[in-house]
Amino acid sequence: MSFASLGLSAPLLKVVAEQGYDTPSPIQSQAIPAVLEGRDVMAAAQTGTGKTAGFTLPILHRLSQAERPQGGSQIPVRALILTPTRELAAQVGESVATYGKYLSLKSAVVFGGVKINPQIATLRQGVDILVATPGRLLDLYQQKMVRFDKLEVLVLDEADRMLDMGFIHDIRKILAVLPKQRQNLLFSATFSNEIRNLAKGMVNDPVELSVTPRNAAAATVTQWVHPVDKSRKPALLSHLIQTHQWQQVLVFTRTKHGANRLTKYLEGQGIEAAAIHGNKSQNARTQALASFKSGGIRALIATDIAARGLDIDQLPQVVNFELPNVAEDYVHRIGRTGRAGASGQAVSLVSLDEKKELAGIERLISQRLNSQAVEGFEPTPGGGPKVDENDDRQPRGGQRRGNGGNGQRQNNGGGRGNNAGGRGNTGGRGDDSRRSEGRGASASQRGSQDDNRGNRIDSGNRGNSGNRNGDAPAQRRRRSQGGQRRSGGGTPNGNV
Ligand code: AMP
Repeated sequence: MSFASLGLSAPLLKVVAEQGYDTPSPIQSQAIPAVLEGRDVMAAAQTGTGKTAGFTLPILHRLSQAERPQGGSQIPVRALILTPTRELAAQVGESVATYGKYLSLKSAVVFGGVKINPQIATLRQGVDILVATPGRLLDLYQQKMVRFDKLEVLVLDEADRMLDMGFIHDIRKILAVLPKQRQNLLFSATFSNEIRNLAKGMVNDPVELSVTPRNAAAATVTQWVHPVDKSRKPALLSHLIQTHQWQQVLVFTRTKHGANRLTKYLEGQGIEAAAIHGNKSQNARTQALASFKSGGIRALIATDIAARGLDIDQLPQVVNFELPNVAEDYVHRIGRTGRAGASGQAVSLVSLDEKKELAGIERLISQRLNSQAVEGFEPTPGGGPKVDENDDRQPRGGQRRGNGGNGQRQNNGGGRGNNAGGRGNTGGRGDDSRRSEGRGASASQRGSQDDNRGNRIDSGNRGNSGNRNGDAPAQRRRRSQGGQRRSGGGTPNGNV
C-alpha cells in the first residue's frame, strides 16, 4: 500500500516522501482513510507505531481542503490535539509543523512550565491546529485567549496516560466547552474501563483500530537482564557504557533524585550525561534532549514521565537502571528503542529486591527475559550492602570488585523480541516517589489490579507532588494510597 492510495493530497505526499516514509505503517493505513471520511476513531496504538502521522496527516488534509471559518479578528481553532506531557506536545507540534509545511495552515503548541505571554501572542495571531496539555489550555481558555466555537476535530493522544496523570477533570472541563458536532480521535495504548467510560461520552460510532496485540514489545528490541547488587548498579552501568562503547543510551531511573545522583556519578566516570525529569526547567530539559540527540552527551537519564513522547531516531540502547513500579511502563520504556523497524537493545539491571517487578514484567509480556550476570558484577547472595535511596552523596559501587574487565557477556540471543504488545502506557508512575514508598505500596496494590491484560494498574505513587501549576493535577489523586510522598518538588509545572 502507498500513501498516495490513501487519498492524501499532493503537498502531504510530498512531505511524506521527504521524510523517507515509503509505506504507511499499519495504524496509518487504517486510521488515515477513516479520519479522511470524517469518522470518529478509537485506536489502540502506542508511541512508535507512527500514530502521530496517522492522525496528523488526514487532519491536515481535511482542514486544508475546507474553507477556513470566519472568526473575526482571531482565527478560531479548528483542530485541538491534547497530550499528557510537554514533551509529547512539543513532539506532536513538530510533526504538525513538518507535515503541514506545504500548506497554509497555522499551528501552535501550548504547555505549562514556560511563560504564557508568548503563547498568548501566538494565539492572537490565529491558529488552525493547536497542540496542548490540558492545564495550560484551560488557563488560556479561562483568560479568553482561545476559542473553540468552530472546532472541527479533537484528538486525545495517549488518553490512558492522561487519565493516569489525573487529567480527567481537566479533560471533562475542556470537553464541556467544545461544540457537540465535531470529529473525535482517541488514541490510547490500552483501553481500560476508565478510558472506555471517557470514550462513551465523547465518540460517536467510532471506527475501532488496534495495531498490536496488547502488551507486545517491538519484535525488533532485544531484551535481557543483568542481575546485580543494587549498590553496584552505577558501576555496572558505567562498565557497560564503556566496554560496549555505547554512544547514545537512554537510562531510566525511578526517581528524580536517583536520576540526578546517577548523572553525577557517570560524569565522575568521564561519561557525558544529563538528567531529564520534572524538577528540571523546560529549558534544561529541551537542552538536555537536544544535546543527547546531537551526540553531545552519551547518557540521558530519565524518569518515566519525562521520557514520554521522546522520539529519538535510531535510539540503539535503553537501560532500565531500575525496573519500573508498573510493569506496563517497562514495555513503554523499551519502546524508546527499536522504533519504526530499527533494531534496538534494552538492558535491565535487576537487584534482588526487584524480583517481584521482574516477575510482573515477564508475566505481562508473556516472556522470560534472558538473564546473565556480568563477570565481576555477579550478585552476592544477600543482595549486597543496603543502599539508602535518600542519601544524596555519590552513589556507591564505584569501586570495582573482581575483574571489572570485559568479561561481560550479553547473551542476548534468547531475549528477543516477543510478541506482546507493547504499549506500556498505563500505570502510575513514580516520578518522584522514593523507592521505599513507591514500591511496597504499588506491589501490593498491583496484586489485585494487574489483570495482566494491559488494563490500568494503579500503583498509587503518582509523582510530582507539590509541583503543580496549570498542568499537573496528577498528584491530587490517591494521596492516601501507598504512602505517596509529597515532595514539594520545585517544578513550576508538574506536567512531567
Ligand atoms: P509515532 O508513533 O507517531 O511517535 O512515530 C514514531 C516514529 O516513526 C517517528 O519517528 C516517525 O517519524 C516515524 N514514522 C512515522 N510514520 C512512518 C512511516 N510510514 N515510515 C517510517 N517511519 C515512520
